[in-house]
Amino acid sequence: MLSAKCPLCQTPGGTVLWQNQYLRVIDACDQLYPGFTRVIWMAHVVEMTDLSAAEQAELLRVVLLVEQVQRAELKPDKVNLAAFGNVVPHLHWHVIPRWQDDPHFPQAVWAAVPHADLKTQAAQEARRARVQQQLTAYHQALVTQLDSI
Ligand SMILES: [Zn+2]
Repeated sequence: MLSAKCPLCQTPGGTVLWQNQYLRVIDACDQLYPGFTRVIWMAHVVEMTDLSAAEQAELLRVVLLVEQVQRAELKPDKVNLAAFGNVVPHLHWHVIPRWQDDPHFPQAVWAAVPHADLKTQAAQEARRARVQQQLTAYHQALVTQLDSI
């Protein structure tokens, strides 16, 4: 079931990389966090426990696969997995590659951006550009892995 008022029912929520009848994997197209990926359940459900046990397993399997491919392809210092739904109460997981020199580290990416001097900002920009160049390979690996499950 879809909701007429829900943005994740009415729009893909990003660039769709892969989907099946249950869920879709999207590139969040986040300027500060290239590689930021979301796994979005297709039906309008709010909580993990709204899913059957088999559906929960399917969703988590894909979330973990995305994490695995991010680690292999982007080599982040850390991967953040998060499911909030406070703003958009439609079940989705954030899979966010993190680096110790990213603008928020070690805070959540949703925290206020701390002040950084120009040298630090330049280093952050250089790393973002490097990750941006890896995105095509990351997305191809994701599709290959997801096609095989
Ligand atoms: Zn929805």
